[in-house]
Amino acid sequence: AEKKVINFGAGPAKLPEEVMLEVQKNLVHYGNSGISVMEMSHRSADYSNINDQAQQSIRDLLNVPQNYKIIFLQGGGTGLFAAVALNLMGRTGSADYLVTGSWSAKAAKEAAKYGKVNLVFPKVDKYTEIPPASTWKFSSDASYVYYCDNETVHGIEFPEIPDTKGVPLVADMSSNFLSRKFDITKFGVVFAGAQKNVGPAGVTVVIVREDLLGSPLPVCPIILDFTINAKDNSLHNTPPCFAIYVMSRVFEWIKRKGGVSAMESAAQKKSKLLYDFIDSSNGFYTSTVKPAYRSHMNAPFRIGGNGAGDETLEAAFLKGAAANGMIQLKGHRLVGGIRASIYNAVTLEETETLIKYMKTFLEQNK
Ligand code: PMP
Repeated sequence: AEKKVINFGAGPAKLPEEVMLEVQKNLVHYGNSGISVMEMSHRSADYSNINDQAQQSIRDLLNVPQNYKIIFLQGGGTGLFAAVALNLMGRTGSADYLVTGSWSAKAAKEAAKYGKVNLVFPKVDKYTEIPPASTWKFSSDASYVYYCDNETVHGIEFPEIPDTKGVPLVADMSSNFLSRKFDITKFGVVFAGAQKNVGPAGVTVVIVREDLLGSPLPVCPIILDFTINAKDNSLHNTPPCFAIYVMSRVFEWIKRKGGVSAMESAAQKKSKLLYDFIDSSNGFYTSTVKPAYRSHMNAPFRIGGNGAGDETLEAAFLKGAAANGMIQLKGHRLVGGIRASIYNAVTLEETETLIKYMKTFLEQNK
């Protein structure tokens, strides 16, 4: 029999069940094609429709104007760490980075291979907040300013879009893409690896403003070249067709559910329930992030140990959670403890089930 579990994984993460069933239904024979999307030419009319539809859905869901290109690349979020620098660093040879967690730190390190990287604020010891904007120092000649909108490991999300005074802004939205509304016209580039909120691993969505195309560094590999891949409509080489197909189905699901604003209110509701419960536990559970910067998608927390985390208790918590069908709750090895990822596909009921278990565990162990 089917084993029912609740998946709180950080990525690859839960996809909507409706989408999984639809994909299953069309897995072997897609439409009238007689073959699977996995088996069809990326030059076929069927695939061309999938590709165009996926792009159009992003345009519709986020109101992306025509002066932005939408492209699908491979290489994951990590590939984009390099791609951003390879495509944008050329103008001045330097870029500004806001480092607020491990993913933006990795992006800065990768970019430093291709140009000069300035840190907008000094490296912090522990990622628990975002230093106030009044302390930020942008350089005068940055080609772009880079930040990570939602740090998946540390659970830090920007409450507001950074103001760069006109310098092109680049955002990694891998773990909160389509979970809240944003004004794309404030950005030069937004990118997101699909495997959290929008699909399976294998495809990275890139939204890039047209005027930033055309000046990649000469060493930029073709597969990471925004200009060529935009011109060729993400069909320069074989794309991850199946991942893009599944992603296009997730976009339809988001539309059926009421669009990005519906995702946003659900995320606010789920995360508020979770953090409010953590904060009301008299220090048994502790959030590792200052309230204003807490992620609506990834909630890392510790159990016991006066806020530092008692590893024995945390192991018992994970074991009990698994016994109750709740999985992938272990915190990232960099921070330890527990991390509950409550992406778009994780329902309010599932979040409530987790909180109920947390209550019981508290009663039994306080
Ligand atoms: N950026 C963020 C915010 C992430 O959470 C991750 C991890 N999935 C990455 C980048 C790296 O993505 P990938 O594993 O696809 O290279």
